[in-house]
Formats: sequence, C-alpha cells, structure tokens
Amino acid sequence: MSRKHLIDLNACIERLAANGDLVRVRSEVDPVHELAGVAYHFEGREVVLCERVKGHNFPVLVGLYWNRAALARLFDCPAAQLPFVVADAVQEWQTRPIEPEVGDSGPANEVVEEEVDLHKLPIPTHALGDAGPYIDSAVVIARDPDTGVRNTSIYRALVTGPDRLTVQLDEGRHVRDYYERAEKQGRSLEVTLNNGIGPAVHIASAVPSSAAPIDKDELGIAGNMTGEPLRLIRSQTVGVEGLADAQFILEAEMLPETREPEGPFAEVTGYYAAQDKRWVVRVKKITRRKNPIWQTILSGKEVFNSVGLVGEAAVFRLVSRQVRDVKGVYFSHGGCGFYHAVVQLKKSMEGTAKNAILATFAAFPSLKMVIAVDEDVDMTNAEDVEWALATRFRPETGLIQIPAARGHELNPSTDHGLGMKLGLDATAPCPRPLAFERVKMAQVDVEKLDITR
Ligand code: MN
Repeated sequence: MSRKHLIDLNACIERLAANGDLVRVRSEVDPVHELAGVAYHFEGREVVLCERVKGHNFPVLVGLYWNRAALARLFDCPAAQLPFVVADAVQEWQTRPIEPEVGDSGPANEVVEEEVDLHKLPIPTHALGDAGPYIDSAVVIARDPDTGVRNTSIYRALVTGPDRLTVQLDEGRHVRDYYERAEKQGRSLEVTLNNGIGPAVHIASAVPSSAAPIDKDELGIAGNMTGEPLRLIRSQTVGVEGLADAQFILEAEMLPETREPEGPFAEVTGYYAAQDKRWVVRVKKITRRKNPIWQTILSGKEVFNSVGLVGEAAVFRLVSRQVRDVKGVYFSHGGCGFYHAVVQLKKSMEGTAKNAILATFAAFPSLKMVIAVDEDVDMTNAEDVEWALATRFRPETGLIQIPAARGHELNPSTDHGLGMKLGLDATAPCPRPLAFERVKMAQVDVEKLDITR
C-alpha cells in the first residue's frame, strides 16, 4: 500500500476522510480564538479541517495527532503497536538509514510569493491569553554551523511582523546548540520552517536526542518510515533545504545578538508560558503549493500523543535492552505526554523494577515520575495503575527520590527545570506470593448470548 500519505498532507487528509477520522467545518471561522475553540470541541476525536477561515484564502487543518487510534490507522497498525512501528523505523534508520534526496523543485515551491507577508497566512491565535498568532507545527530544518549536519525539530514561533517571528529554543535542543555556536561567530543561523506535512516527518522531528544524537540527521527517519528517500528542495535565499512535499516553506534566519518579547502561549503543560525576551527569526522568502493548507497543532492531547509516542518508542528500545524484564512504556496523558511514564515488567527476579525506573529516567530527562507495574496491569489505564499503587506499592521500600535533577523547564513545579524525580515501584514481590495473584474471570463471548434490555 502506498505510504505517500505519511509525507503528503493532501493524501493524508484523503485517507483520514476514508477512515471516517475527518470533520470538515464549512462555516467561516475566525482564526483569532474561534478556530482553536472549534478544534478544542473535537480534541481527541476527529481531525478538523476548517475550510473557510475569515480574512484568508487557505484552509487550516488541526488535530492530526490527538487521536492515537486515527493515527494508527494511517500507519495501518493497531494503536498499541504504534510506538513499536515508530521504534522499528528509528532502529532501522540507526543501522541502515535511507538518506533524503535533494532537488530543485517540488509541490512546496509551485508558487513563490512576491513579497514576504506572514499576515497573509491563516495562522491562528489559539488560547484567550496568547500573545498573538503562533506557528506551532512547522518542522524547522537547520544545519550545524561546524559540521553541516542537518537537524529537524518543532518549536513555537510568535508572528510579530510581516517578516518577523520570535521563537522559544528550549535548553538542550540541538538547534539551540547550533544557534549559540553561530552567534559566537557573529553569524545568523539559516533555517527553513516547513508547514503542512505528513506524520512521518513530524514524528522524525520529535525523536529525542538519546535516539538521534547531534551528529545524526534525523530527517532520514522519515525515509525509513515510508521506505523511500524523503524529497528535499534547495532554498533560494538560505543554505538549508526545505521539504519538497510541505504545503508552505518559510526560508529564514535566526538573527544573532537579537532578543524580542515572546509569549504568553498556551503550552502543552496546560499553563501559559510566560513572556520573555527570546530568539528572533527574519523570514526572507515564502514558497507554497498552488492550493495550500495551513496546519496547526492545539497544545494538549495532540502534543501528548506526538511527543509521547516517539518518546515511548525510543525509551522502550533503550530500557528494554538494559532491563530485559521490561515489556512496555507508556507516557500518560495526565502527565502531559512526557512528564510521567509507566513502565510495565514481567519480573524475573526481585529488584529489576527499580533498575527499570532508573534506566527510564536516564533515557528521557524530561520525566518527573516513573511508575513500575506488572504485566497484569493495563499501563494505559490510569485507574488500573492507581490500583497497582494502592495494592502493591510500599512507600517505605518502593520509593526512589532523586533531588535536584534536571527535568523540563516548562514544568512550573520545577525550578527552571531543576527538580526532584520520583520513582514508584508498584510491582508485586517476585516470585509472586498467592496474596498478590490478581483475580481472574472467565472470558465469555457475550455477543453470542440472548440478552434484552
Ligand atoms: Mn537533532
């Protein structure tokens, strides 16, 4: 079956519609607050295509990642398998990468805009307290100023002028490292912002640096996901490529020694990121498809899934190699998709749950809490995990506290990223005493019974 829809947003929308996973909003919606309000109504369910956006000619897609079952249907696999499909592609890429191909033209530069004017793009303003319109789904491609290795990642960008953006560059991001080295040399960092893309490139760009270190071009992961090289196109004004199949490409540079106000923005944590002086991007050229679709992401379930599932996949590969008892890793939505992990084990001896907790923290530094459960607990079900805590967790022996460790700076419960990590071993003793054997019921096919209401 063709995997074009994993790269091309139009093919992706067709597939979503065929799967019953798309709603089309035909009424005109205002890109300021209303579009996000409509999207919020559908959060976690169908993907939303707003066909008419007030003041603009292009439709806006939102919610591509907020329903894991719908996303799994795009990958032709069950939802529970999705992290493993991603993990397999990452692993294949690590040993046999399918490198991108570079050309000069593609759908993404069918139209070259005469003038750069970001206000002509249907960029929505999401939450009521947001500072303004945000580009929050564009895949940003940059090059290491010393080695030339490409990097791909996604971060929020506030529109502050017709050709100007302020962006947030998290600590520890490869692009921040690139930028700081370019800035020391007094140079700008050239980038392309690629908006409107299929899930393969988005997922590749979210792969954590533990699986895709700074000397590796993670764009290749998209090739391993589809089985063919990802197509890139040379830019006209910057020395870094764009995605040939994107809906829009913004060729741009991050200016050295320049900081301007950015924020507030409704973040994945469910809080507003505060305003501060942050990094500035000047857009030099905009190219697009003839009939493009703008894509945006609503902070919340959409990010929990897209970041969570690649995080789970990468962490599972690393941790299960170190602790063979590990059978699964889940980043719960209550934990914003990347602060809380549940690790599932089939314990072969006592103590491996604690090793698994430590290995999980090492594999994904943003994590604040890791809970270890046995194989008879549904790690994706918060109620079942709580049952394990209630009946198997012993605080006096099962609690691991790691004070003043590096976490995620967006988390307001940390001191700018510095805070305690908490491990909870909610596994039963091994070998398992009778008192810890879970009650089992017979499996009955109720559909076959004669039942009336
Ligand atoms: Mn990278």
